[in-house]
Amino acid sequence: MFIDDTIAAIATAPGEGGIGIIRISGERSLQVAQEIFKSMSGKQIEEYKTRTLIYGNIIDNENVIDEVLVAYMKGPNSYTAEDVIEINCHGGFISVKKILELILSKDVRLAEKGEFTKRAFLNGRIDLSQAEAIIDVIKSKTDKAHEIAQTQLEGTLSNKIRELRMNVTELLAHVEVAIDYPEEDIEHITYKTLKDKAEILRDEIKKLYDTAESGKIFRDGLKTVIVGKPNVGKSSLLNSILGENRAIVTDIPGTTRDVIEEFVNIKGIPLKIVDTAGIRETDDIVEKIGVKKSRESLSTADLVIAVLDSSRKLSEEDFEILENLDKKKAILILNKVDLNQKIEEEKILQYVDNDSIIRISALNNEGIEILQNKIEDLVYNGEVKNSSDLVITNSRHKDALNKAYKSINDAIDAINQNKPFDFIEVDLKNIWDYLGYINGDTVTEDLLDSIFENFCIGK
Ligand code: GDP
Ligand code: ZN
Repeated sequence: MFIDDTIAAIATAPGEGGIGIIRISGERSLQVAQEIFKSMSGKQIEEYKTRTLIYGNIIDNENVIDEVLVAYMKGPNSYTAEDVIEINCHGGFISVKKILELILSKDVRLAEKGEFTKRAFLNGRIDLSQAEAIIDVIKSKTDKAHEIAQTQLEGTLSNKIRELRMNVTELLAHVEVAIDYPEEDIEHITYKTLKDKAEILRDEIKKLYDTAESGKIFRDGLKTVIVGKPNVGKSSLLNSILGENRAIVTDIPGTTRDVIEEFVNIKGIPLKIVDTAGIRETDDIVEKIGVKKSRESLSTADLVIAVLDSSRKLSEEDFEILENLDKKKAILILNKVDLNQKIEEEKILQYVDNDSIIRISALNNEGIEILQNKIEDLVYNGEVKNSSDLVITNSRHKDALNKAYKSINDAIDAINQNKPFDFIEVDLKNIWDYLGYINGDTVTEDLLDSIFENFCIGK
């Protein structure tokens, strides 16, 4: 993939804003900038040190289009590793549009989505996992997701993949010597040693793969639903959880306007509470949609918070909810502990263990901390996770690791059966390829295109 054209795009989000930035990358960047920019000092761009902001005007046929700051970042020390010009102009729609049009009239092509980042990858400045981390940084909705993406951007995943592939290479080298020089008088690796080394590699791959479960939660949020019949205190509970922890509210595009996701940060775990718009209205979503629908949300959620009113006896609807609770992902709340208790706890215990029950008063904010600890327990299964650990958040990476894991198991099977080294070599080569999907070493152009399609224009 040889790159020889120069591309440009508006890098800032559309709309009114303080500044707008137009980015140009490629061989002709500097030349184009020289043609359209006049510095106030009268000096040429290349007389300044690289990566200096230069004050001046963008000029088209003697007309000043806008007052700008221009930066020239000479490759390879730039985002794309090519010569890059960035023009900071006044925000809004017209300045950026006019400047971009002027640039595009000078034999420069409009960049495709993510093309700057794609070039950074193709030019070898970053690997594919780092490029993908850049999308994740931009799209992250919680602090935690952002933190993980930053770690991957710094190259932690890249380093790990490189290390794993080096182990594969080492194994391959042993196997290939044995294949190429079967009769020679050199000592060949034994099946036993091969097996030991392959098992270590398998465990490493598995360990990384296993982080994907919590990785998905950190990236997308733990899909949480709050269920319970009317008036048990769902809205009150939601409000007291949200009180201190609200992170972000997003509308889901393409759905009705009242479907809202609310992200709450509980001990670093992003909870994506769905249908909160419904819960918060006076007529609850559960009232409107009935038990059938709530049964549906019970099955698709990662976490179910079921609420009962402990100041009243259990009703038919309460039993419906209890019957449908999946113990592995449900927390049962007995709310209104500040009132006289009438609920029949012994009946509840036929459905859930005592330690899945949390007693709270949403009204007085009592027991909320215990609920938060419970959520943490449920997510981590009692394991304490170090936040700086390498976590797989990308389903593409997860998929590649899964394939690598299958191949290493195939290799181990072949070793166990003392199969010829050629057999083992095939599996090892597969692992090498699959791991290469992650850092981009062995990806196809089609795959690259589909990855960079998720970027925004100008990134
Ligand atoms: P929802 O219909 O399940 O969303 O219930 P709401 O949150 O709207 O609460 C119904 C009523 O119960 C409201 O009047 C709340 O003030 C009251 N309530 C909620 N939680 C508590 C609690 O812990 N103690 C008491 N005494 N009242 C509560
Ligand atoms: Zn409510």
